[in-house]
Amino acid sequence: MKNVKFLKCVLCGREYLPEEVEYTCPECGPAGILEVLYDYEKIKRGFFREKLVEDRNHSMWRYRPLLPINDNSPLPPLHVGWTPLYPAERLRKKLNLKNLFIKDDGRNPTASLKDRASAVGIVKAMEKGAREITCASTGNAASSWAGLAASVGLKAYIFVPETAPQGKLAQLLIFGAIIFPVKGSYDQAFDLCIEASGHFGWYNRNTAYNPYLVEGKKTVALEIAEQLGWEPPDSIFVSVGDGCILSGVFKGFFDLLSLGWIERMPRVFGVQAEGAAPLFKAWKERRPLEPMEPKTIADSISVGIPRNGVMALRDLYRWSGMMISVSDEEILEAMRILGREAGVFGEPAGAASLAGLIRAQKDGLIGENEKVVVIITGNGLKDVSAALQAVRMPEPIEPTLESVERKK
Ligand SMILES: *Cc1c(COP(=O)(O)O)cnc(C)c1O
Ligand SMILES: [Zn+2]
Repeated sequence: MKNVKFLKCVLCGREYLPEEVEYTCPECGPAGILEVLYDYEKIKRGFFREKLVEDRNHSMWRYRPLLPINDNSPLPPLHVGWTPLYPAERLRKKLNLKNLFIKDDGRNPTASLKDRASAVGIVKAMEKGAREITCASTGNAASSWAGLAASVGLKAYIFVPETAPQGKLAQLLIFGAIIFPVKGSYDQAFDLCIEASGHFGWYNRNTAYNPYLVEGKKTVALEIAEQLGWEPPDSIFVSVGDGCILSGVFKGFFDLLSLGWIERMPRVFGVQAEGAAPLFKAWKERRPLEPMEPKTIADSISVGIPRNGVMALRDLYRWSGMMISVSDEEILEAMRILGREAGVFGEPAGAASLAGLIRAQKDGLIGENEKVVVIITGNGLKDVSAALQAVRMPEPIEPTLESVERKK
């Protein structure tokens, strides 16, 4: 952690040394989310773009000097990060965008971007000597946390809403996690988990509550910048639930700006589902967050109380980011387009970013020559029943050539 200066509370601005705090600001309580601040001058002296070119470690750990972990800490063995950035030629034609790229983060070990955060969280848990860990999640953070825990032999206690998709629950059980399916929403599971972790002493990965997760998530931005030869995109689209990935994307580009490796910040678009859009509403009306009862097919962003809301709004205002909201219909349409034109299968929250791009284009916010990156945050196999709502399953046929002839 020699490159970390302090952890700073987003509410009161107090600064703490990493060893002084564990999760949130002691003065402000759970709402006092802490942000990790680095000594960029120090990092600059030992970390260079030229050096990275030669680094054969093609995973998120190639950015280790920009991560809040100790020098000698062991890393989990699963391969996280360095996911492909596709030029997506056919999708470019379809959308009439000459410089569109798809960052497929469903290619992570447990099939979502959450692995980036969990990987850092696991290192922190091991640094603290934890044997038992916990989190509450809409599904992906949980399956990711459980998978990474299994890879290093930690015991995971997981709180999910009982409505979490089967695929994600199956992952949890296969990874050997102990699951508490909560009769209630993600928001209720979240609060229960914090209570339980305090009571039983389990190391907690809850989004925003644990300050190190945004740092893992930011590696997606570092990769995009490197994969584009340090010429960041003009616009970048990412789906938003708690707002942690959104802040991670801003943070990654901010790191690179601070190191002098890039010259400008891309315009970041956060995309929410209409039925779960508290951040969109707060941003649009320039008012504080108001919780809402979430309802959308995109379970991973079905969040009524965005836990990273304060930081996400601050980042949006600071860097002139934008929020967009899309209907479930638009999300399902984006899933079909992504699959058919790019061969990439995103879960609803994964493809919501593409739905956001299509909406932004309709609203005249995107020029056809702009360099645009769409982050696909999770793989479609995680929630097959949602995918089946985007398509139509044909009736079975008789096993004869005539019936093939008739239906083809
Ligand atoms: C968690 C998640 C998101 C949203 O991330 P937040 O940090 O909660 O905003 C988007 N897509 C997928 C697939 C996710 O798992
Ligand atoms: Zn505080």
